[in-house]
Amino acid sequence: MNKKNIVITQKLPLNPYEYLSQFNIYYNNSSIPIEYNKLCELIDDIDGILTTVVTKIDRYIIDGAKKLKIIANFGVGVDNIDIAYAKSKNIVITNTPYVLTQATAEIALSLILALSRKIIDAHLFTTNKKFNIWQPMLFLGNDLYNATVGIFGFGRIGQRLAQLLAPFNVNIIYNSRTKKVHEELLLNAHYVEFAELLQRSDFLIITAPKSDSTYHRFTLKEIKLMKKTAFIINVGRGDIIKENDLIEALNNKYIRGVGLDVYENEPVISEELMSMENVVLLPHIGSATINTRNKMAELCFQSLNDVLLKNIKPWNAT
Ligand code: NAP
Repeated sequence: MNKKNIVITQKLPLNPYEYLSQFNIYYNNSSIPIEYNKLCELIDDIDGILTTVVTKIDRYIIDGAKKLKIIANFGVGVDNIDIAYAKSKNIVITNTPYVLTQATAEIALSLILALSRKIIDAHLFTTNKKFNIWQPMLFLGNDLYNATVGIFGFGRIGQRLAQLLAPFNVNIIYNSRTKKVHEELLLNAHYVEFAELLQRSDFLIITAPKSDSTYHRFTLKEIKLMKKTAFIINVGRGDIIKENDLIEALNNKYIRGVGLDVYENEPVISEELMSMENVVLLPHIGSATINTRNKMAELCFQSLNDVLLKNIKPWNAT
């Protein structure tokens, strides 16, 4: 029997030849993702794609993919894929939920602490040899303890973050499309309307996906409703915040600071934002632990094997 064909669009942490031995693999073994034109060229004869968040799988690709049965996405956010169109062609789309929840919640917590305790500025101060004497007022931060933490998007990552925050005795409020009755009891969290989330949060954490309903949910208008002492942390998707408005808000001190792992025009980041105080910027590393990324790769391999060899719908099909 002829082997089925798979494209892998970017270098992975595990060797795909070990896990996908029953396929012909076009492996773009590079940290630079496959070129769009190359993918268009290959797609005609492809049964499965393993893609990362940076490669767009749009209508044009899908139309060219006559044999395509599965798009395995290395990541939980599937906004790089035209999901509705792929599904209309009976293509299975899988992602990597759960395995990255802890790591991404940890990066949100890291951003909260880095901002509230000025960790990055203090590190630079120290390595720039400015630490000459202990001072009572040096790098005074803000307490996380007893603060009100607002979570926008109370799914797997948002809920895990709430658990991680429990020892800080914070007051957890959240906004999601739906109220989570059981989770509220388990996590001592309280649903609030969006405006209330803005008004009450000392730390407002975005853990929602990219969608039409979350696009530019945070503009100057919403940010102006927040406390002037509040911090915004975004580990969801970049365009949930209108970046120019965020810069204007920081310039006018409408909020105290911001921690970002994701950007509106990723990987391009505004120079102005990069030069600001009270800003901590990360290069989209929410799920970037060795263990997590290995599990994400394994899950993608398993999904390809399930669909293309066993003809079963994987549990992680979206
Ligand atoms: P999830 O379990 O599906 O949770 C998403 C949550 O967002 C759900 O609670 C959902 O509400 C809520 N939501 C969706 N649309 C909303 C809206 N318009 N207003 C308010 N809430 C809304 O997903 P997850 O596993 O936690 O992942 C969340 C997102 O994090 C991913 O989609 C991805 O974009 C991002 N992410 C980023 C990184 C990183 O490296 N920075 C890593 C992993 C994931 P309902 O429950 O009511 O539907």
